[in-house]
Formats: sequence, C-alpha cells, structure tokens
Amino acid sequence: MHDEAPGAKPSVAAYTAPSAGAALEPTTIERRPLGPHDVGIAIHYCGVCHSDVHQVHGDWGDGTFPMVPGHEIAGVVTEIGADVTRHAVGDRVGVGVIVGSCRDCGMCVQGLEQYCAKSVETYAAIDRYHGGEPTRGGYSTHIVTDEHFVLRIPDSLPLDQAAPLLCAGITTYSPLKHWDAGPGKKVAVLGLGGLGHLAVKIAHALGAEVTVLSRSERKKDDGLRLGADHFHATDDPATFDLLAGTFDLVVCTVSSRLDVDAYLSLLANGGTMVYLGITDEPLGVSVFSLLRGRTSLAGSQIGGMAETQEMLDFCAEHGIGADVEVIDATRINEAFDRVRHGDVRYRFVIDASTFES
Ligand code: NAP
Ligand code: ZN
Ligand code: ZN
Repeated sequence: MHDEAPGAKPSVAAYTAPSAGAALEPTTIERRPLGPHDVGIAIHYCGVCHSDVHQVHGDWGDGTFPMVPGHEIAGVVTEIGADVTRHAVGDRVGVGVIVGSCRDCGMCVQGLEQYCAKSVETYAAIDRYHGGEPTRGGYSTHIVTDEHFVLRIPDSLPLDQAAPLLCAGITTYSPLKHWDAGPGKKVAVLGLGGLGHLAVKIAHALGAEVTVLSRSERKKDDGLRLGADHFHATDDPATFDLLAGTFDLVVCTVSSRLDVDAYLSLLANGGTMVYLGITDEPLGVSVFSLLRGRTSLAGSQIGGMAETQEMLDFCAEHGIGADVEVIDATRINEAFDRVRHGDVRYRFVIDASTFES
C-alpha cells in the first residue's frame, strides 16, 4: 500500500474490468483512509466466484464499471482504527459479500444483515456509509472494511482454502442450517461447482445423507470423495424415476435455467428446493409440482455476520476448506472462461501477491 502524503487516499494494485464483458486488466485504485471503526487488511487470497463472472459479463444488467470484482477475501490485518475492538494487527481475517448495512432495522438486529434493504456489497455498489464512493472488491492487494464486516479465520484453516468460505461456504451453510440438514435428512446438492462442493462437505459434516446431482458421471469420484453418499447424473432420465419423492432438501447451485418441475418431483412430501444459483430467466414452475407434495420452492442469499463466523468456526472444527486451484493474477481471464465452461475443480483462488508484479 502506497501512502503518498498524510491524509491522502492510499493507492493499491488491483485488477479491473473497464466495461461489461471486457477482459480484466491491471490497474491502481484508491482505498479510503482508515476511519475509527475500520480495519486495514493485506489481502493474501481472493476466490473467483461465479457471481464475479456474471457481474463482469453484465449478466444481471446492473453492473457499474470500471469494476474490481472479488468478495471471497482472506488476509491479515495490517492496521486498525482508534475504536476497533474486534480485531488486532496480525489477525487472520476475511471479508465476504457485504461491507455495510444500516445496523438498525429488523433484519440487522436479528443478524440477517444480508437482507437489510440498505446493505452495501463489497464491489459494484455505492457505499452510502462512506461518502457514496463506489465499492471495489478483493481482486486487489489491500482493502479497508468496517470491523463489523470482518470475520476471524481460525488458525487451522489455510488462507487460500478459507477464502471461498466467505461466499460459497456461507451461501451453502446458511440454507443447510435453516432447513435443518442433519441426521435423518436426505439432502441433494444440485451442481458440483464452487458452491456445490462446499455444500457436500458441510451437509456431510452436519450428518445429513448427501446425494450429488451432476450433469454427467464425470465428477462421480470427486463427489464421493468430498463426502457424498450417492451420486447421480441428471443427463440420465432414469435418475428422475429412481429418485422421485426422495429428498427433504434440494440445494440448487446451478447458474443457468433448469427444468425446475423435474427437480421438484424429487422432493419428499413437505420438502424444499432452495435456489442459490442465479439466473435472470423466469423459472416457469407448474403449481401442480408444489401442491401435490406440499413442497416449497425457496431462495437464500449468503448469510449474516454472526452466522458467517459460526460457519468459519464449524469448518475449522471439521477440517473443511475449499478445494482450490491457486492462480496468478495474469490468469484471471482464463479462469473466468473456465468458470463459464464449468471447467473448475472446485474454486479458483487468486494469489494477491501477484497483483503487484
Ligand atoms: P460454479 O462453480 O460455476 O458451479 C455451478 C455448477 O452448476 C457447475 O459446476 C455445474 O455443475 C452446474 N451447471 C453449470 N451450468 C449448468 C447447466 N447449464 N445446466 C446444469 N448444470 C449446470 O458456480 P458457483 O460459484 O458455485 O456459483 C453458482 C451460482 O450461485 C452462480 O449463479 C452464482 O452467481 C450463484 N451464487 C449465489 C449466491 C447467493 O447468495 N445465493 C452466492 C454465491 C453465488 P455440474 O458440472 O456438477 O453439473
Ligand atoms: Zn460469491
Ligand atoms: Zn439494516
């Protein structure tokens, strides 16, 4: 971090997408000066989530450019503001999808900051709490974040494997807990990618009977190694006959449109299919698919700060990190292409020391 003059905004190395669909390129950005509640973090690793790829490609139509993506951040505290109490210099910490919320509404008070109407995302958002500046994410060497949105990473978790927990981990942990995945429950994980492989590990650690539903048999050995009890390919129509009426919970991590009725037919009576994967196309569901088994179709979005800390502690206790392929910054565009083509086992993580070279 280069601090040119007292009070100047520190400038740091980063990777940015100049416009929707453009390749990412090296740049320099400014971070805000440290406020009293802020934590300065040297980023060591940042995961590449499919949401970064969607956003840079303008898939959701609301991106603001230039864009510095990245919301699976793991690093070490380098400085703290005068009023910071939760973190100290040298602590191993993480930052996930949000960096601000009102802290006062019903959602915030319940620790559900991710559903606060005034939450601020880590990148491509306007930071209403810090002068309306655009937020810039973790594809960078340093970040300054309010301590409330900074999580402790337990010592036993390597930082590269911990980074994806800050989004993929909490996004799967939260619905698994909410819908009581545990002993006696049959859980299907639909799509074995970044979110999916962590959903398998976490659901297995929670004690559920876990089935992977993947497009083909290609990832079968991996699925079973990650902790699944069963693995079925959805390109085989027999899978849907075999598993009809089976699951208490189907966790959908697929990033494009699906035949939702076909997956609802796999639910046991009273079961829930929860959407985590994001497509902006309408789902097109038949009401009959819901009322025949009193089933539910739901969605879930990341998790609150307290639950994210709980998830990190749970993962440390159970030895759960992401299966990562660590890359240099120069390979980000290649990684984005590979994520789009489903060619990742199971998370790219950028070595942040390579942003500066
Ligand atoms: P990912 O690593 O690309 O994994 C997605 C998986 O979905 C793929 O590995 C593939 O699994 C399956 N898939 C992909 N295209 C498919 C298709 N056309 N038909 C059927 N299956 C397909 O992505 P990710 O990082 O896990 O993210 C998954 C989705 O979750 C993205 O849309 C992302 O934006 C979203 N997300 C949501 C939240 C939230 O808060 N709700 C948070 C983070 C991410 P198989 O090869 O096994 O079939
Ligand atoms: Zn994400
Ligand atoms: Zn709020």
